[in-house]
Amino acid sequence: MGNVIEYKLTAKGVKPTAVRLLVLDVLSKQDSAISLSELENSFAKADRITLYRTLKTFETHNLIHRIDDGTGALKYALCLDGCECHLKDLHVHFHCTRCRRTYCLTEITIPFVTLPEKFTTQEINMVIKGLCQKCSS
Ligand SMILES: [Zn+2]
Ligand SMILES: [Zn+2]
Repeated sequence: MGNVIEYKLTAKGVKPTAVRLLVLDVLSKQDSAISLSELENSFAKADRITLYRTLKTFETHNLIHRIDDGTGALKYALCLDGCECHLKDLHVHFHCTRCRRTYCLTEITIPFVTLPEKFTTQEINMVIKGLCQKCSS
């Protein structure tokens, strides 16, 4: 673990406590988005409230983003370096209906949508459902 993780925290203005370092380490090792329960399962002794608060702190500091993939359980994934979670930073998410994993497709930005007059965008959530690479081969 060590310095890279610690740097990621301090670079975003988050004080590197023991729990935060551990949670960020777990998040960095995922290749798909993770729910609070899945995060909890990766700790032998886990205090759900502490983990939840840690995720909230990470989210407000643009270290991670929340994904509503339509399954009812919110998922979390690391933001790319330099992400400020502005609308222009948003990317498409993919939910696999077979393995039920949710992936960040960070190379695919959400297309700009022109809304009718007096409608303003606050959030855009684009989830594509289908089979992932592993499940379709
Ligand atoms: Zn899959
Ligand atoms: Zn994402």
